[in-house]
Amino acid sequence: MRVACVGECMVELSERPDGSLVRGFGGDTLNTALYLARLGVTVDYVTALGDDPWSDAMVEAWSREGIGLGRIRRLPGRMPGLYIIRTDEAGERSFHYWRDSAAARDLFAEPGAPETRAALETDDLVYVSGISLSLYGEAGRAALAETLAAQRARGGLVAFDTNYRPRGWPDWEVARTAFRAALAQADLIFASVEDMDWLFGAAGEDEVLRHRGRAEIVLKTSDGPNPVARVLHGASETAVPAGPVERVVDTTAAGDSFAAGYIAARIAGLAPESAAAEAHRLAGAVIGHRGAVIPREAMPALAF
Ligand code: ADP
Repeated sequence: MRVACVGECMVELSERPDGSLVRGFGGDTLNTALYLARLGVTVDYVTALGDDPWSDAMVEAWSREGIGLGRIRRLPGRMPGLYIIRTDEAGERSFHYWRDSAAARDLFAEPGAPETRAALETDDLVYVSGISLSLYGEAGRAALAETLAAQRARGGLVAFDTNYRPRGWPDWEVARTAFRAALAQADLIFASVEDMDWLFGAAGEDEVLRHRGRAEIVLKTSDGPNPVARVLHGASETAVPAGPVERVVDTTAAGDSFAAGYIAARIAGLAPESAAAEAHRLAGAVIGHRGAVIPREAMPALAF
């Protein structure tokens, strides 16, 4: 089983109280790819980078994690996007982006796009998020949708994680249209009720549940310290609560690692409900550490 995660990783700068900046890398689909690789899944990260030192450093780091690099386009003269995380006196974090000219946004427009598309058509599972969709603009999204239609026609599967970030979209209606299309194409849906209600108002859950029966759905409610994943497949529906987490340090990549845990468990042959339980365990470990990527030694032993 060959998985492709499609999206963007950015340079992350965290501002310290004295104004100095600490450099890391961050991206939702990249986090998912990284945890999939750690769980033994054959996974490619599909994105475009520049030919600058930070793009080199990203590729080097991903190589150490065992992520497939053969599908990364390196665009001459371009750069990755960048964001700064600022923490105010009350400890509240805010995110500030420079990403409009990021190489990743041209994945379906740069000269190598036909190659990218042809390779995606042969993947067993393609994973995209709402953030991935926001990168490409109308034409790029149409190209991606066509590619996924061809991939599914060949028997491949599409997984969609709703991750909704309003600032990535020109207006609500464009986002709603893109999300509806992606939900309709997805065989496996990871949706957070919070994201969906934000985008669709009170109808958020219905927009997802109209695909029950057809798609396998994991609907997450992050009700404070007691998150529950509603798992719907075929005619069955089960609520799988997250186990208790000792202490929540940083929820970055909670949903991204959850998706990786679920997909890896399903590939290993676990039933949807058991996969959700394992996904909670991985996400629970991830939120017990600072940052998106936990030390390897902190990876929990999962039941597959
Ligand atoms: P995101 O906001 O990144 O999409 P979610 O809120 O969907 O993440 O949470 C994903 C998973 O992370 C949950 O299903 C759960 O396993 C874990 N999680 C998140 N917050 C908590 C918490 N406060 N306590 C326990 N587990 C949590």
